[in-house]
Amino acid sequence: MKLAIVSNQSTKSKRIMTQLEEKLLSAGLEIDQNDPDVVLTVGGDGTLLSAFHRYLHLIDKVRFVGIHTGHLGFYTDWRDYEVDQLVRSLQNDEGTSVSYPLLDVMLSYSDSKADKQFLALNEATLRDFSKTMVVDVYIKNDFFERFRGDGLSVSTPTGSTAYSKSLGGAVIHPRLNAIQLNEIASINNRVYRTLGSPLIISGHEWIRIDIKNGGNYHLNIDHLTIPQSKLKSIMFSVSRKKIHFASYRHTPFWRRVNDAFIGEFPKKEQDD
Ligand code: NAP
Repeated sequence: MKLAIVSNQSTKSKRIMTQLEEKLLSAGLEIDQNDPDVVLTVGGDGTLLSAFHRYLHLIDKVRFVGIHTGHLGFYTDWRDYEVDQLVRSLQNDEGTSVSYPLLDVMLSYSDSKADKQFLALNEATLRDFSKTMVVDVYIKNDFFERFRGDGLSVSTPTGSTAYSKSLGGAVIHPRLNAIQLNEIASINNRVYRTLGSPLIISGHEWIRIDIKNGGNYHLNIDHLTIPQSKLKSIMFSVSRKKIHFASYRHTPFWRRVNDAFIGEFPKKEQDD
C-alpha cells in the first residue's frame, strides 16, 4: 500500500508529519506522493479539503485519513497523539472504507467559452460583490423562484457543518445522498420574494440557476475562489463520485457535531 502525506504549514503539523513519515517507513510502508492508495492529512478539516483537491484526479481509488492537530474534526478521525495506533491500523489495512457524497457543479457561459465542471467536498458559493445578484432558480426543469440578494450557496452533507451552517442551514447526516441550497442575504419584501429558508434536494434532482444580470461573479469551490464573467447558468447535483475515507474506527457523526458545537452533555448537566 502506497501512502502520501499532506500537512498544513503550522509548526506542530510539520513536526507530526516528520514523526509520521519516520514511523511509516520503519513499519515497512511505502510513501508515494504522486500515486498513493491512501492520503494522510495532518492539520484540520481545511487541510483535508486541500488534499481532496490535490488528489481529485485519483478520487475513485484513493482513500483519505485525517489527523487533527487541534480538536476532533469532521474529516479527521485521528488526533496527533495517536500516530502509533494509526500506523498499526495502516499495517493491518483491509481496504475498508466509508464514502460520502460530493457536489457536481457545471458552469455554462453566454460567450463561446466551453462548459466547466467542478467537484466540491464542502460547498459551492456564487456571489456578486459589486451589485445585487439576480438569478432564476429552477429545481429539475421547473422554475422555483427569482432570487435577489448577495448570493447562493449549495453544500454537501459533510459541508453542512461548515459555511452552510453559518448561513442557517441544517446539519445533514453524511449518509444522506442530498445537497442543500442556502440563501445569502436575500431581499424579501412586498415586491421581491424567495423561500427564505434552506432547501434540501435528493440525489434524483438538480438545481439550476440562470444568471439574469451578467456581472462579475465570484464562485467559491470549497476554499478556492474562481472569478467568473459571461456566466449564463450553473447546475448543481449530487455527484456520482464520492469521497472515500479509510475506516479503521468509527466516530458517530452526531458525536462529532456535539463535540464541535455544543460540548459534552454531562458537563452541561453539571452546569445546570
Ligand atoms: P478556513 O478559515 O481555513 O476554515 C474555516 C473553518 O471551517 C475552519 O475552522 C475549518 O476547520 C472549518 N471547516 C472546514 N470544513 C469544515 C466542515 N466540513 N465542517 C465543519 N467545519 C469545517 O477557510 P478556507 O480554507 O478558506 O475555507 C474552507 C472552508 O471553510 C469552506 O469550504 C467553508 O465551508 C468554510 N468557511 C466558513 C465560513 C463561515 O462559516 N462563515 C467562512 C469561510 C469559509 P479546521 O480548523 O479543522 O481546518
